[in-house]
Amino acid sequence: MTNRVALVTGGNGGIGTEICKQLAAAGYRVVTTCVDAERENIAGWQKELADAGTQVDWVECNVADFDACATMAAQVTEKVGPVEVLVNAAGITRDAFAHKMARENWDAVIRTNLDSVFNVTRQFVEGMRERGFGRIVNIASVNGQTGQFGQSNYSAAKAGMHGFSMALAKEGARKGITANTISPGYIETEMTAAIPEDVRNGIVAQVPAGRMGRPDEIARTVVFLAADDAEYINGANIPVNGGLFTSF
Ligand code: NDP
Repeated sequence: MTNRVALVTGGNGGIGTEICKQLAAAGYRVVTTCVDAERENIAGWQKELADAGTQVDWVECNVADFDACATMAAQVTEKVGPVEVLVNAAGITRDAFAHKMARENWDAVIRTNLDSVFNVTRQFVEGMRERGFGRIVNIASVNGQTGQFGQSNYSAAKAGMHGFSMALAKEGARKGITANTISPGYIETEMTAAIPEDVRNGIVAQVPAGRMGRPDEIARTVVFLAADDAEYINGANIPVNGGLFTSF
């Protein structure tokens, strides 16, 4: 068991909730961000977890906004102490073919999925370097590795996240910091529930495992990468996709 501090952006989402649960079960003191506590009924979410034995703190923050991230970092540090494990899981989709995509849907996805990774990591990585320990896990997507119809914005953002992980891995390796990416395939959450059923069935038919993934299958990979003894895994992009996309 550890008692390190872990921050999960998007921790109240489908995948994020499971990440929070598994990190807490491993002993981490877990904090999540949420955009709008009232709209998302974060207190209700927190209580549900607490009733099941999982303690998670939260701080409001729009991760697309750099200044909001600076404020959030100060609040988190005051509330629970310096962040040692950072999981960048906040994300959105705004799908459309590139030739039809509205400029605001490009911007929203790049800002929320990619700029956010810098906005949040920048607040904590200096402290991690000073203390000689850090674990950064970026939740990207198989669609950042393969590209996907209607997702030029999302695919670009997710591919960019791994570029960031690779550079950070090099910068942090001698300071005890690792930065890795997890690229989930299709996971059962609200995000994929929004995919029309016939399209979803078509996707599942292409997955060698014959099913969609579960949030807990992403969470266990996060816990693995967050561990103190995972120091030599650095700059990796770990696919958790049921065999949907394999590469050498
Ligand atoms: P959800 O929609 O369930 O959760 C997304 C989370 O991101 C929510 O907690 C949401 O907060 C948060 N979020 C969105 N915008 C912002 C913002 N501007 N600032 C702060 N937080 C924000 O999605 P999933 O759990 O399915 O996805 C989690 C991550 O995994 C995403 O990055 C997604 O791209 C990635 N992923 C998901 C896959 C899937 O199949 N589900 C596959 C591959 C990757 P709030 O609720 O407060 O709006």
